[in-house]
Amino acid sequence: MKNYTNRILRISSSFGILFLLIPVCCIWSQSKLQITVSIPPQKYFVEKIGGNLINVTVMVPSGSEPHSYEPKPQQLADLAQSSVYFAIGVHFERAWLERFKAANPNLNIVYTDKGIEKIPMQTEKRTQDSESHDDHTNIESMDPHIWLSPPLVIKQAELIYNALAKIDLINKEIYRKNYGNFVREVSELDTELKKVLMTKDTKVKFMVYHPAWGYFAKAYGLEQIPVEIEGKEPKPADLARMIDKAKESGIKTIFVHPQYSTKSAKTLADALKGEILFVDPLAYDWDKNLRNIAQQFKKAIK
Ligand code: ZN
Repeated sequence: MKNYTNRILRISSSFGILFLLIPVCCIWSQSKLQITVSIPPQKYFVEKIGGNLINVTVMVPSGSEPHSYEPKPQQLADLAQSSVYFAIGVHFERAWLERFKAANPNLNIVYTDKGIEKIPMQTEKRTQDSESHDDHTNIESMDPHIWLSPPLVIKQAELIYNALAKIDLINKEIYRKNYGNFVREVSELDTELKKVLMTKDTKVKFMVYHPAWGYFAKAYGLEQIPVEIEGKEPKPADLARMIDKAKESGIKTIFVHPQYSTKSAKTLADALKGEILFVDPLAYDWDKNLRNIAQQFKKAIK
């Protein structure tokens, strides 16, 4: 009998830590609402509103681009842990949201671009042909980069808040408070960017390889000049035209994104005796990133 008790004691002491840890870890991770988003800036927005009540996973890792991303099988499997997916309207979602839902039928898919009026994706060709108004604006040609405009992020924040408050009703008050604070922060950023970019005398123009900054330009009265033509590198004739345009506008800096080729941007910059500068439309540090980029755009034109 004594022997038996000793054995039990020995077994439970060697497993005791495990027995204690398992429930604690599971209660802890389940108490956080598990959320998946498409791109890093959304993680920033959702964390601002969800605070430490949530845990956010990003589908398109930094450095990849969300137009043609292909999720890994492990990412599909991991979706089983998520209760919410915040979609934003980037192109890969169209092919994948159905499959996400199939991988986890309980997944709540929330569209945070709902109610946001999209503008056509700017391309050099479109600018040139603007007289001949053949406006076949299909969904493929609409600009998905709505996370780069603070006024539009305020709209997205409202949809994020509504979804969190509905799914996790008990914590509604916390989400509401965080949401209020976030809206205030974004409004302050908006005011600040207007001061930097909306100067009376000159219109800030910038040349960028992939035209991700359409909504940003619209919000702050800037002119975005894209290098990429309909998703492809420009041909030598297009480049020659762009060199003239850049010279006319006093542009010496060509902006590029880490997710894209810098080949034609480099050719342009060399022809202008200028430089290429990296900016990242997908950075997680959303507010710092936009502040920094506003300064870069402004500095690029003399
Ligand atoms: Zn893009």
